Amino acid sequence: MSNDPRGPDSNDTTGEGDAESDGDDTAGRLLAGRCDCGHVTYPSHPVCPACGEPQEGQVELSERKGTVLTWTTATTTPPGVREPNTLAIVVFEVDGQQVRALGGTTDAVEIGDRVRPVHVEQLRDPEACVRAAESQRFDGVRFEPVE
Ligand SMILES: [Zn+2]
Repeated sequence: MSNDPRGPDSNDTTGEGDAESDGDDTAGRLLAGRCDCGHVTYPSHPVCPACGEPQEGQVELSERKGTVLTWTTATTTPPGVREPNTLAIVVFEVDGQQVRALGGTTDAVEIGDRVRPVHVEQLRDPEACVRAAESQRFDGVRFEPVE
């Protein structure tokens, strides 16, 4: 049995979120939530914002390319976060719906650039973490420009 609070992947009706259960299966993944009504959100929600039913499906965004909607560069960042830190809102098209995700970028980007999510081993410095490092994740996803 899985202790993953997001529930089993057996509810994935998309055919796209073919998760492998080898322990930590979220590394490098960008998972949106999908409701049976068709509404897709990122991040996922326990309950669908559109219809109020449990949002049990998932859509894997990691294998998709998105488009930079807008971006900014933070020059004053919290302890342990890279400086400067460029962040982008990226729009993914999922079955005709636009799904937005906020994240850091690997390189400079411009509005309209095509990007893809890539796994990053360390998004921030564990040494600067005020909470117990063992309870935190430091890896994650950044958006990398693609040609
Ligand atoms: Zn719904």
